Amino acid sequence: MANIILLGPPGAGKGTQAKRLVDERAMVQLSTGDMLREAKTSGTEMGRLVAEVMDKGHLVTDDIVIGLIEEKLQTHAPGGYIFDGFPRTLKQADALGELMARVGETLDAVIEIKVDDEALKARIVGRYTCGNCGAVYHDTNHPTKLAGICDVCGSHDMKRRADDTENALRTRMLAYYRDTSPLIGYYYAKGQLSAVDGLAEMDAVAGAIAKVLDKA
Ligand code: AMP
Repeated sequence: MANIILLGPPGAGKGTQAKRLVDERAMVQLSTGDMLREAKTSGTEMGRLVAEVMDKGHLVTDDIVIGLIEEKLQTHAPGGYIFDGFPRTLKQADALGELMARVGETLDAVIEIKVDDEALKARIVGRYTCGNCGAVYHDTNHPTKLAGICDVCGSHDMKRRADDTENALRTRMLAYYRDTSPLIGYYYAKGQLSAVDGLAEMDAVAGAIAKVLDKA
């Protein structure tokens, strides 16, 4: 059992790899992006405010996401937690350290998924997911076998994210390089960082992550 952070720019494959770990290792995925997308559809004032910020590609305030994670750290996680898209700022990283200490957990590894920027753009603009089971597809790289029907669960409910547009992506990349990339140095200095090649085949990336986990 291990608690890990998946770190990397938008489109690096954090969500895809996290879902595999959930299936294969009974880990619990804590994706602040997923939690915020859920809040967006809640019809509350907070949901409306969050939607405005997210759809443009800006970061939501630290206090909101730290609060979301704090609530979820009560979840039973026999295989450990996967933090996906959190922390994204140094303040969030410090808060995570404190929260983990408070619940008696340790952070066992931080895995940076490395990709190049051009590949990211191609991956993100064209991405869609199954609204029912969360399987991820792409218009050119990995379309569904039958148009509009999920290969995994047969659902017709295909979704595109409101922030997977070129404009929002530019803002998200900027937020990544300005606010999140300093975490690479932060965790490296703590001796917790491992890097994997995110441009490799999906199975090879999963294999590289598994190696880090087995050592953690
Ligand atoms: P993601 O699904 O991880 O790409 O997140 C989608 C969007 O949700 C981001 O572009 C931010 O607007 C917001 N978000 C997700 N996680 C965080 C976080 N840890 N801190 C601030 N904003 C976040």
